[in-house]
Amino acid sequence: MDITEILHSHAEEGFSFNPVSVPIYETSIFSFKTFEEFQNSLLNEFEAHLYSRGKNPTAEIVERKVAALEKAEDAKLFASGIAAISAATMAFLKSGDHVICVRDAYGWTNKLFSSYLKRFGVEVTFVDGMTLEDFARNTRTNTRLFFLESPTTFTFRLQDLVSIANFAKEHNIKTVIDNTWATPIFQNPVEFGIDIVVHSASKYIGGHSDVVAGVVIGRKEDIRYIFNTEFMNIGATIGPFEAWLLLRGLRTIHIRMQKHMENTLKVIDYLETVPEVEEIFYPFYPKHPQYELAKKQMRGGSGLFSIKLRVKSLESIVTFTNSLKIFRRAVSWGGYESLVMPYAVTNKDGLTEKNKMVRFHIGLENPDLLINDLQGAFQAMRKAKP
Ligand SMILES: *Cc1c(COP(=O)(O)O)cnc(C)c1O
Repeated sequence: MDITEILHSHAEEGFSFNPVSVPIYETSIFSFKTFEEFQNSLLNEFEAHLYSRGKNPTAEIVERKVAALEKAEDAKLFASGIAAISAATMAFLKSGDHVICVRDAYGWTNKLFSSYLKRFGVEVTFVDGMTLEDFARNTRTNTRLFFLESPTTFTFRLQDLVSIANFAKEHNIKTVIDNTWATPIFQNPVEFGIDIVVHSASKYIGGHSDVVAGVVIGRKEDIRYIFNTEFMNIGATIGPFEAWLLLRGLRTIHIRMQKHMENTLKVIDYLETVPEVEEIFYPFYPKHPQYELAKKQMRGGSGLFSIKLRVKSLESIVTFTNSLKIFRRAVSWGGYESLVMPYAVTNKDGLTEKNKMVRFHIGLENPDLLINDLQGAFQAMRKAKP
């Protein structure tokens, strides 16, 4: 199916009055004409419109579209990205199991494995993940799951998806990947043999910084299993209105992602000329150590990247951050707008090497305005600390 067919019409059949914008099914329950229909639905809640904690027609449109974009069989929306990650991993784990997770994964993913699941007797090993060896060497007889995030979203390290998926299959290990950065537009891990894909839909799928949501994508049998366990038991269901916001965002995702990439490459071209910029972390920057792997498994890059600044004091980073006028100081990313997040806001450790890193999200603004804004902030930094 062509991508515009997926985004424009796929999964939108069967609504009364042929609306162009589909209805928000703001209902918690669905009713039945007969005992028999009622009973059939209760006995197969995964397929039935029975109760909106399980299935809602507005959410279903988004689920079917995202599954098609990821070239997968099925998908389930969640109330947040981390709810999706927790359900997709916990469904396949029990006490005594071992997980291998990439070290620089999203903060709450890291906490899920390093502290939350520890309470339930699940062990974890964190690895850099840049080589298959990292996974092979740490695999034990009780290793059940590999958690990947490629690229990671502060340090932009990639994992080789084909070789890791093949190794995992041979050892009967489930593979789950956080694909939020690349989006289904630029990377489809299922094609490389990865079992389950998760996204924080709060980022590019929503695309307008107005909704928190998540999605799990994979084979129908896996999605059904997750539905009948963590999804229904923990109950982190998305509301119909939030699902509709995702649908509205999704309509333009292919256009937005191209523009995010185009703007980002222009900003990076500028940053390369700035003496205070020591290093640039972006998979589609030709000097990235895994540039070839990036091109092999992704069709493009999104708008999030980091730089490392050559500075002698934390004050310089504070001045730089405070001097930006268009870039907003905020967490998260994936909306239409540009953002800045210095790593130093996450701690009070002073000028560590990591605290010299600053992350940017490049939005859909005129890139000349963004470059101008950065120029001003670098000037302010130089003036304050010659
Ligand atoms: C934001 C984010 C998450 C968590 O998603 P929420 O929607 O905030 O729960 C997970 N992974 C990555 C890479 C993220 O950026």
